[in-house]
Amino acid sequence: MTTDSPGSHPDAEPTALLAPSADASASVGSASTVGGPRAEIGVIGGSGLYDFLDDYDTVEVDTPFGRPSDPLVIGEVEGRSVAFVARHGKGHRFPPHRVNYRANLWALRAVGVRQVLAPCAVGSLRPEQGPGTVVVPDQVVDRTWGREHTVYDVEGPVVHVGFADPYCPNGRQVAVDAARLAGFEVEPEGTLVVVNGPRFSSRAESVWHQQAGWSIVGMTAMPEAALARELAMCFTTIALVTDADAGVEGGEAVTHEEVLRVFGTNVERLKSVLRDAIGQLPAHEADDDATCPCRRALDGLELPFPLP
Ligand SMILES: [Zn+2]
Repeated sequence: MTTDSPGSHPDAEPTALLAPSADASASVGSASTVGGPRAEIGVIGGSGLYDFLDDYDTVEVDTPFGRPSDPLVIGEVEGRSVAFVARHGKGHRFPPHRVNYRANLWALRAVGVRQVLAPCAVGSLRPEQGPGTVVVPDQVVDRTWGREHTVYDVEGPVVHVGFADPYCPNGRQVAVDAARLAGFEVEPEGTLVVVNGPRFSSRAESVWHQQAGWSIVGMTAMPEAALARELAMCFTTIALVTDADAGVEGGEAVTHEEVLRVFGTNVERLKSVLRDAIGQLPAHEADDDATCPCRRALDGLELPFPLP
């Protein structure tokens, strides 16, 4: 890991964290053994959200899965140390199916992050939840394929984490309160179906998702949430509805342009939601003493390699 002055992007080689190995006895490096800024809260978001960190360090982290989408940006928000990673990288260059979700989550954990807020744009499957609504989902359905869905992709002790309740109860409550405070229409629960993209849904797919009882559709929330659970981190999706999905009653077919337009008009308020939520998240807890169920996801499990 190397650090640099605020706002610049160093070319220096990152400190390599050794790859998880099929040989469980192999030693694995950890960011905790190297210097550099640390963070307690992570934000995975779009590039439009960068500038809610006024003063920050740019931190290169290498992971067993390669580099995150972008160097981490670490600074202070509401008195809390926050690491930001641009999900799609600079210039929005990684489409949803090519985002290195494993590297993004591993890198956040490696700098100390244990609570993650993950804003994203979604389509609505319900007419009453129109553009500009914030949905804080409590359930997820994964319809993605061909992505790297687990960090435990080695021979050795097999790791099955519980995922019945995919999202952090503390993070969700904080996000709902913060979104209400910012004046958003807020849906405090809902099921997010994640499609592979990058294309949008057909009308028939959209009707099918709607009839299944799901409420919003996105392309990035999985395997992000599952990987956070595998790394015993609290994870909260904050979904901004940018459009009515194709099959929704009276819905125009969605375009990328419209998604960007609606996201753009809401980005300042979304930043204030994030700032407020960051300030309200529970105090950081050490791994051994953590009380949130997300943090206990690996209790009693033998891991094939140590986590950073
Ligand atoms: Zn939690």
